[in-house]
Amino acid sequence: MSEFDRIRAQIPTGLWIDGAAVPAAGGARFAVTDPATGDLLTEVADAGREDALRALDSACRVQSDWAATAPRERAVILRRAWEILIERTEDLALLMTSEMGKTLPEARGEVAYGGEFLRWFSEEAVRIGGRYTQAPAGNGRILVTQQPVGPCLAITPWNFPLAMGSRKIAPALAAGCTVIVKPAEDTPLTMLALADILAEAGLPAGVLSVLPSSDAAEVTAPLLADPRLRKVTFTGSTRVGKLLLRQAADNVLRTSMELGGNAPFIVFEDADLDQALAGAMAAKMRNGGEACTAANRIYVHNSIRAEFAARLAEKIGALRVGPGHEPGVELGPLINERQRNSVTALVDDAVAAGAVVRTGGKPIDGPGWFFQPTVLDEVPRTARMHREEIFGPVAAVYGFDTEDEVVAAANDTEFGLAAYFYTQNLDRVLRVSGALEAGMVGVNRGVISDPAAPFGGIKQSGLGSEGGSEGISEYLDTKYVALTH
Ligand code: ADP
Repeated sequence: MSEFDRIRAQIPTGLWIDGAAVPAAGGARFAVTDPATGDLLTEVADAGREDALRALDSACRVQSDWAATAPRERAVILRRAWEILIERTEDLALLMTSEMGKTLPEARGEVAYGGEFLRWFSEEAVRIGGRYTQAPAGNGRILVTQQPVGPCLAITPWNFPLAMGSRKIAPALAAGCTVIVKPAEDTPLTMLALADILAEAGLPAGVLSVLPSSDAAEVTAPLLADPRLRKVTFTGSTRVGKLLLRQAADNVLRTSMELGGNAPFIVFEDADLDQALAGAMAAKMRNGGEACTAANRIYVHNSIRAEFAARLAEKIGALRVGPGHEPGVELGPLINERQRNSVTALVDDAVAAGAVVRTGGKPIDGPGWFFQPTVLDEVPRTARMHREEIFGPVAAVYGFDTEDEVVAAANDTEFGLAAYFYTQNLDRVLRVSGALEAGMVGVNRGVISDPAAPFGGIKQSGLGSEGGSEGISEYLDTKYVALTH
């Protein structure tokens, strides 16, 4: 019996529409597999156009009632959902590990992190503010209120199957919006489990739908073309984000986009090296490197680069690789064959360009999509991985000599999501954090995500923020009422 068999009976595998698990209109289903073995876990209903429109019908039917629900009531539902989710941490973590591959400790961490958006936005639901002022001319009053945007489409990726959904669903529900979620085809199960929990917590039927599909556009295109939809929020590749922005233009939809990254991780010569190594491990190897905030380019001052790369290789080379649910495993598989091929091609390209392999460097044969934990040193800046997201357990180390040079190199990318740097110098902290073109900057730390902080990128890394007090405003429209007296 596999670990997954223990929780199999509780796994929802239908589409979630109008408060119930239902089959797809055409009766189709598609396979969800375990990336650690390639084995079939289960099959889920495969949504198409008809199901998408059914979900939108139900969202539109309840939108005004949900918007009129007392904020305290919306808050209580979100809070209750957080409590249920935390109680079920072990089962949810196992479910997530089974479909996504991350280790169980990381999956538990994501249940805590993803769940925190439910708690945080339950607290924000009751603090949606406004403004009331006298017009400067003295001829009236200015009343400013905020109202829910309306039905939203949320499209989520596979790397954080829970958190990338809850980060959108929680603020949308808190604001009074209805939501249709199209989870990633590799990892639909965790999102279906979340829908179940929200229903148990008292979320009315129709407010949330979840539509797994083997053909994303089949579900999203009809929704984006329907004038009743008011917003699309997306986390995924810049390529697909641009496609969605073009489609959103036709109905002038509100958009939130969390797209690709190419995070620099800079270690200055005055850094605390132990701290920087621990930070690099976290920023690179968290989630097996499959994170848009992952340290993609590790720039180390040439006076300490060789030592840093050797110590990093020792730590990364010692990571225990295996199926994520096995005790002691520190690195799971990549999500699928395509992703492993992509990582392999980037590493081969860098090595051909002259990068030195300090540890790893190859895919691992056998069942599952494993790749050796890898450190490449002296990577030439002409290598493809200097420009492209690696999205795997591969640390690429580059040397540099001056602050100006490394800041210019860090900014020489169309992306602008996360950036990290290590220094003990306060002037440099202020100067470099100001100069880096990124939506988020970690100073002397390798993990920046926090539900209470605004997560988001600039340049081609995205539009808008998720989390923090900013997160809810993505789901609110501003209305100005002009009063005469
Ligand atoms: P990745 O390459 O990491 O899988 P994607 O951007 O392809 O990232 O996927 C993120 C999400 O976008 C997934 O839910 C996926 O199904 C969805 N998606 C992919 N292509 C399209 C598309 N053409 N239209 C709408 N959604 C899409």
